[in-house]
Amino acid sequence: MAFENYHTLKSELTPYQACLVAVSKTKPAEQILELYKQGQRVFGENTVQEMTAKHDALPKDIHWHLIGHLQTNKVKYIAPFVSMIHSVDSFKLLNEIDKQAAKNERVIDCLLQIHIAQEETKFGLSYAEAEELLNAAEVQQLRNVRICGFMAIATNTDDESLIAKEFQQMQNFFIKMRAQPNGADITQLSMGMSSDYKIALRYGATMIRVGSMLFGERDYQR
Ligand SMILES: *Cc1c(COP(=O)(O)O)cnc(C)c1O
Repeated sequence: MAFENYHTLKSELTPYQACLVAVSKTKPAEQILELYKQGQRVFGENTVQEMTAKHDALPKDIHWHLIGHLQTNKVKYIAPFVSMIHSVDSFKLLNEIDKQAAKNERVIDCLLQIHIAQEETKFGLSYAEAEELLNAAEVQQLRNVRICGFMAIATNTDDESLIAKEFQQMQNFFIKMRAQPNGADITQLSMGMSSDYKIALRYGATMIRVGSMLFGERDYQR
């Protein structure tokens, strides 16, 4: 594993005070433990099954962030321990997270996933949908979820000006929502991966999600 990359990345993040989510999907527990021993505590996974297996196997002071699509019927498996869910994109899902968090006597931190890329995808909300969700009365009544901000994935392209434009629009929306009367909890902007985190930091990312730069290429993409 490229520990050099890890320490370089950590020092790059220092001036921005941004949080590094080390994306360990598809990587074995032993590799996660190596990075843990270097000081890393926040890890990101994109499936419930992988995250629960790794949570069982690894030190309990790891903060597990779910960054992939979450099905309502699987929330119960991660509700006892997950630190943050980056991929909330419906009221139905938020409501289920609230219910399962209550059962575990917890408040679960959530981000709304915004669809900012040009690629077609089933996942993520438009800005208008996210604003509507944030301000919905039934959302404000939920006591066991805290909407802390937004997660976004830029278009997968070499065109840095397009990525910059998407991140800038995302930042503008983040600033606007944070300034709303009910925006006190809106503090986190999760954007940037191995290929585009430097651009994301320029546009106010408070969390970056980096996998392959730390762990090497994955055997299969997902
Ligand atoms: C896999 C993944 C990442 C990390 O991607 P890398 O290119 O390996 O850094 C970040 N965010 C999400 C949502 C992912 O699924």
